Amino acid sequence: MGTTINRVPQRRRPRVLVLGVGFAGYHCLRELERRLPADAAELVAVNPADYMLYVPLLPEVSAGVLDPRRVAVPLRNTLQRTRLLLGEARDIDTRDRTCTMVDADGQPHQLGWDRLVVTCGAVTRLLSVPGVAEHAKGFKSIAESIYLRDHVLRQLELAAMTDDPAERAARMTFVAVGAGYTGTEVVAQGELLTREALQHHPELRHDEVRWVLVDVAPRVLPNLDERLSGPALKVLRERGVDVRLETTVTEVTATHVRLSDGSDIPARTTVWCVGVRPDPLVDALGLPTRKGRVEVDRRLAVPGRADIFAAGDAAAVPDPAKPDEPTPMTAQHAQRQGRLAGRNVAASLGHGVSGRYRYRERGFVVDLGGGQAVANPFHVPISGRLAWVVARGYHLLALPSGRARVAADWLLGGVGRRPLVQFGLVPERGVTLSETDRLPQVEAR
Ligand SMILES: Cc1cc2nc3c(=O)[nH]c(=O)nc-3n(C[C@H](O)[C@H](O)[C@H](O)COP(=O)(O)OP(=O)(O)OC[C@H]3O[C@@H](n4cnc5c(N)ncnc54)[C@H](O)[C@@H]3O)c2cc1C
Repeated sequence: MGTTINRVPQRRRPRVLVLGVGFAGYHCLRELERRLPADAAELVAVNPADYMLYVPLLPEVSAGVLDPRRVAVPLRNTLQRTRLLLGEARDIDTRDRTCTMVDADGQPHQLGWDRLVVTCGAVTRLLSVPGVAEHAKGFKSIAESIYLRDHVLRQLELAAMTDDPAERAARMTFVAVGAGYTGTEVVAQGELLTREALQHHPELRHDEVRWVLVDVAPRVLPNLDERLSGPALKVLRERGVDVRLETTVTEVTATHVRLSDGSDIPARTTVWCVGVRPDPLVDALGLPTRKGRVEVDRRLAVPGRADIFAAGDAAAVPDPAKPDEPTPMTAQHAQRQGRLAGRNVAASLGHGVSGRYRYRERGFVVDLGGGQAVANPFHVPISGRLAWVVARGYHLLALPSGRARVAADWLLGGVGRRPLVQFGLVPERGVTLSETDRLPQVEAR
């Protein structure tokens, strides 16, 4: 039997319900806490975890540079007036203004709301490539990044124990699919991890670790400034990464990756970094969508519904720079839109004035580890150590909390070796993509 959490008639203050506390949801709640007097509204958020994940630093977690807790911004410590309900929103009735959420025990609860903010983000996008859902590893959560690090280190342990050269080569081959910022960083940081780990495996001194990066696009970082692609490719190639551009994956098995150029790569590791699609919750809303994202106007409100707002990856916010396109799915847009959603929700309750979405592109940073990065702060392309300093400075500024601890990890990492340990928290049988991201969401290519 489900419970009802203060259904509408018993409430005095209007309730603002935020679904999903990632970049957009977190900054929306911070803004609401700042703008609304305590008696103006009840702030309620539903999220599966009690932290906001700072996703851009996940590649450093999988590479053993950062402790996983560094990328988890604790919600109970940083949101003062928000009632956080741990669980997943499942059904939303936009006519009766109710939401059914399921808690960690699988129990349903029903919530009423007066303002709804949809900030449930995105999930990994699977293409209809045979074997991906079963054999590829995703890269979007702390569990997946710890699992990847454990798995990579375990492959080296297993390679060191076998006398079969073919098995050894396959265990020492790591394939990443998708050369956007995720795949590029995973490969660049992963290569540094395995290089350091190899120093502790004298049995493997005559063998080579092979990292392969595959993308259908003609350049790495295809969605970013072209001037970042060349320097990033150079760093990858200098590290011996086998970059296959204009190439697609046709099949993934437990032991092989098959490519459209006819090659068949024996490998026990395939990391799937091809991109994301809006969270399945968006479909459950029954609201108009664009490219699978909730359609909103530049005030982030659903057309015809002054009580429903959406922001971040889940929302199709018209891009002021390209009016026919929604803004790209990036943390920067999600953060800014979250803030604006908070402001506009507050305005809809009579506090302040609403605004339209506009932004100034501040550029992008891609940290390749080992003192290398590419970045284009304010449209000036830079690479190498300067870009690396800019990238780290950017993340320190963008992190909502725990900056000192991240800086300490980085400083200590500069003088010591990274800890090469596996925690085995995730069984080797795996976190498959089909388990981590809710299916069905396979798309035709
Ligand atoms: C590995 C990686 C690296 C990245 N690096 C960068 C980068 O360097 N720079 C950059 O700009 N962007 C980067 N991105 C993209 C960026 O992380 C996203 O664009 C950003 O997180 C989107 O913010 P959001 O708030 O829309 O969604 P999210 O941050 O994904 O948050 C969504 C939240 O909603 C929750 N949720 C989902 N479904 C439900 C439900 N049914 N009920 C309740 N809660 C739900 C989720 O658990 C999550 O907490 C990266 C992405 C990845 C995967």
